[in-house]
Amino acid sequence: MTPTPKAFSTINQVVEDIAVTRFKQYLQIDTEHPDPNYRSCENFLHKYASELGLQPWSCELAPGKPLVGMTLLGENPSLPTLLLYSHTDVVASYKERWTYDPYSGYEDIEGNIYGRGAQDMKSIGIQYLEAIRRLQLANKNKFLRTVHVIFCPDEEISSEEGMVKFVKTNKFKELNIGYCLDEGTASPDDIYLIAYGERASWWVKVICQGAAGHGSRFLENNAGLKLQSILNSFLGYREEQRKRFLNKEGGIQPNVVPAEFQAWFDIRLSPFENFDKFEEMMAGWCKNAGPDVTYEFVSKNRNTPTTPISKEDPWWSAFTSVLDEENLKYSPEIFPGGSDSRFLRELGYKAIGFSPIINTKLRVHDNDEFLNEKVFLNGIHLYTKIIERLANLQPFNE
Ligand SMILES: [Zn+2]
Repeated sequence: MTPTPKAFSTINQVVEDIAVTRFKQYLQIDTEHPDPNYRSCENFLHKYASELGLQPWSCELAPGKPLVGMTLLGENPSLPTLLLYSHTDVVASYKERWTYDPYSGYEDIEGNIYGRGAQDMKSIGIQYLEAIRRLQLANKNKFLRTVHVIFCPDEEISSEEGMVKFVKTNKFKELNIGYCLDEGTASPDDIYLIAYGERASWWVKVICQGAAGHGSRFLENNAGLKLQSILNSFLGYREEQRKRFLNKEGGIQPNVVPAEFQAWFDIRLSPFENFDKFEEMMAGWCKNAGPDVTYEFVSKNRNTPTTPISKEDPWWSAFTSVLDEENLKYSPEIFPGGSDSRFLRELGYKAIGFSPIINTKLRVHDNDEFLNEKVFLNGIHLYTKIIERLANLQPFNE
């Protein structure tokens, strides 16, 4: 293991690890929606790249929305490359609910570093770069394959002006990606969670129409009864598929039977589900509920392929060889939420989601989001080995 670079004050006291300092500085840049400070972020990252001797570049995907990249050329630049992905934006913090200011980078006595983005995912962006710094300090300045580090905007608001646009650019094609590391999720115990696919989200609005009338009448064509049937069908299916019932609308006053009810469903489909069959089943539920029951999609993601997790896959095998050497427990899983990896997987690229965060309470998008300094530094140690191993992966039939 490469010794951790330490800074010393004049009285020879150990002060903060440079990685921790950079992490706090990054957390202090407010990149919260709806008005992320992407320009400060870009300046910070460009300066950081020069400090590490990496070639920085930017790709302005929309006015004021730069994607920042850094490239470390490999000995054989024609080989498919390693892409280290992170996003720079964070969700709203609601400051008043926090114990410490979410943009102060405050560290408490236990070493917990607070900030919006501490878990999702400013920590990871810094960990990639600090792993590269440690490799350089060990005189490992060049690998067989080129390594790109990218920092994307707008991931938290559906990536329309982020990854969705970027994958259509020539710059993206030029990256010639072989394997991508993206975010995963924090683990409450000692098992690292590795995402190799994700659920597709379908937001469906079901509209039940019927006859309006006075509450005292026994209406035949009752929208409420249709809604009940729909709820029974969807929620009954909940045992097999994770769903969240969002809200139901309708009802004017207690003695009036409304002519229309709407129900919204947030459905997360596993990539192993037959999407056409599922829609057929949903249409059947609407038909069974009675006449004038229709559904429409508010959003409908396509099914995306999963990334191979068999020992025969050289990338996966190289990645997990590091975890095995370190005697770590890990579990491949289907990511319940969405990440930018889906845009890569859709195009046939291999991407896995890995956040080196264990024994940590999940506080993604929550108040008091934090990461412990020890967990953070240990993550750098892991990336040091992972980056070296993947970037030196011998050519194979790719
Ligand atoms: Zn994220």
